[in-house]
Amino acid sequence: MARNPKHDILFQPIKIGPKILKNRFYQVPHCIGAGSEKPGTQAANRGMKAEGGWGACCTEYCSISPESDDCHRVSARIWDEGDVINLRHLTDSLHKHGALGGIELWYGGAHAPCMESRAIPYGPTAQASEFEYLTYCHEADDDDIKYLQGLYVAAAKRAVQAGFDIIYVYGAHSYLPLQFLSHYYNRRTDRYGGSFENRARFWIETLAAVKAAVGHEAAIATRFAVDTLYGADGVQALDDGLKFVELVDREGVVDLWDLNIGDIAEWGEDAGPSRFYQAGHQRNWTDGAKRVAKVPVLGVSRETSPDDMAARILDGRLDILGFARPSIADPFIPLKIQEGRYEDIRECIGCNVCISRWEIGGPPMICTQNATANEEYRRGWHPEKFAKTSSSCSVLVVGAGPAGMECARVLGERGYDVHLREADTELGGRVRKVVKYPGLSEWARVITYRQIQLQKLKSVEVHTGVGKMTADQVLSYGADRVVIATGSYWANDGTNFVTHSPVEGLDASLPYICTPEQVLMQNKPVGDRVLVVDCDGYFTGVSIAEFLADRGKKVKILTPLKGVAPYTHFTLEAPNLHRMMHEKHIHELTSHWLLKVQPGRATAYNIFRDGYKRAPGPTTGELPRRPGTEVVEVEFDTIIAATGRVPNDSLWRELAARRAEWAKHDVQAIYQAGDCYAPGLIAQAVFEGHRIAREFESSNPQRPQPWIRERQVWGHETYPKISDRQVVG
Ligand code: SF4
Repeated sequence: MARNPKHDILFQPIKIGPKILKNRFYQVPHCIGAGSEKPGTQAANRGMKAEGGWGACCTEYCSISPESDDCHRVSARIWDEGDVINLRHLTDSLHKHGALGGIELWYGGAHAPCMESRAIPYGPTAQASEFEYLTYCHEADDDDIKYLQGLYVAAAKRAVQAGFDIIYVYGAHSYLPLQFLSHYYNRRTDRYGGSFENRARFWIETLAAVKAAVGHEAAIATRFAVDTLYGADGVQALDDGLKFVELVDREGVVDLWDLNIGDIAEWGEDAGPSRFYQAGHQRNWTDGAKRVAKVPVLGVSRETSPDDMAARILDGRLDILGFARPSIADPFIPLKIQEGRYEDIRECIGCNVCISRWEIGGPPMICTQNATANEEYRRGWHPEKFAKTSSSCSVLVVGAGPAGMECARVLGERGYDVHLREADTELGGRVRKVVKYPGLSEWARVITYRQIQLQKLKSVEVHTGVGKMTADQVLSYGADRVVIATGSYWANDGTNFVTHSPVEGLDASLPYICTPEQVLMQNKPVGDRVLVVDCDGYFTGVSIAEFLADRGKKVKILTPLKGVAPYTHFTLEAPNLHRMMHEKHIHELTSHWLLKVQPGRATAYNIFRDGYKRAPGPTTGELPRRPGTEVVEVEFDTIIAATGRVPNDSLWRELAARRAEWAKHDVQAIYQAGDCYAPGLIAQAVFEGHRIAREFESSNPQRPQPWIRERQVWGHETYPKISDRQVVG
């Protein structure tokens, strides 16, 4: 199918400084957990996007000095020759496909915890970070400011050596240049503080120095939050935001604006989760800056609709479309639009699970929609290419939730003869329940993308509404191999991670106790006073609480965790979830768990009620500290029990018990994928379904194949060398 002509604008080249961007698709800086220290992962992940048609791809934030060290989180770094070598591998992988490479030079000020380097960062004013615990910066004097600007220039020169085409001075998300610009941080009274012009001076001088040093070879960009959303206490779009864009353009020191909003402590206002923000949510905030800007402007907003993308440019709201999460979920968006393959676009669902890994620090980025994200190098997975099988093996996949659908899709792409059978009349498994929660309807894209792809695969048959398969039916089905993907369910007896046992009196067959499924899928009646007991710590407890509060219920959440839904801090949903709870009068009782439940009354205890002094020596048969006895009584009409998920593995267990019969039925092997093996994130279920299908020819696909680990191997070169130190020891 040909591309729709109304999308032609997306493929028009545009000049940025001395460079030409071949189209309007631009992967803005975003983290993947690779930095400069996993060059294979870094180059393969972004290189895949270049192959998928992106005009430019950037690094994540790239530290210019050990004084800006974000460890435990993973940033890129361009501190020395070793980093230049590693990042050169990235730019080579981009240039091979005609994409430009961008690098986001970063100095964090007080927000850089420097846990590895143990250095002290500079800032405009000596103060503590509102983002990091126990992190203070040292106030820079005039000499320090020159030194800092020299760091940017030196890093920019190294970036050119590494082959980058676009060099950022990164100020958004409240990093150093914005700290100088914003009243919130800058309390100076010298020529770098006070008036707007003085507060803008550091950023403009830095841009000018970088442009003078490398501007003839690379485009100079800056990422700027036109509004930090603090009201008059920070940068406001209609005040300093607009003035700054006008001033910088007058000075002629940037070739490209990368505009966004928000800060670092609540950067979910920028990378907005779909629970709160739809695609395009930043546009009204950045429009004014676009109107006054003299050089091309790009901005992000998680767009996945080609019509919306084209409209942003045609309406004069942007020149270039910046993407982070949509490019993770589908690295081939540009090519698919170019070829008119609109139905193949795998749309981001805005869950922010990708971001959660950066926030946790350390582990590589993952994606709910794209199981191949960050697996391009270490597992050799390509999101659009699949090794074809020559086998005539037929496969039965039982269960069409995220794991089963993905497994069937990938097996089908590989040429296997697949039957996907679902007990219910609709595909989607637990995602069908999740999308009923307030704000989570976009998560249905997990289903729709796979449903469309399955329909296109000639070797896959999808059967819905077939009821639960029995072991006899599986064995006699006629498939050579079987994948069980029957999902999980919420424990109906209160089994939880605190005691690893049921809760006395908690039984979801009783009229006053429900699991989330019973409320969402079976419309089980719920009384006025609701107690949600949550051990999940992610979206379920807080979402069902909101669902019921919206229906006029008085809701309290009881959890043994130290706060409600702690995982949502990592997905950037937490601040607005807590505002929502406050606004909707959803109360909380944290660090408490249940002793027992009776009609209308739950008896709970503080999980820290036992004595803080441990017994001096071993004891037998009793707790080695003073046992606490205090309890709290909580009244309710209905309890909603999200205490733990249980693998729905009874079919597997029956089949496993009859292993001796498999050969008689010509069944070669049976595997489990997703929650029925072990409950987890939807992203993990999709990944497991995908992995088993990719590794289907291994001796046992249930067990993952090894992957490439990127780390220093003893005896090989290090950068810098110990001999590079001016003092030894
Ligand atoms: Fe989008 Fe979620 Fe994937 Fe992130 S993890 S790219 S938010 S689908």
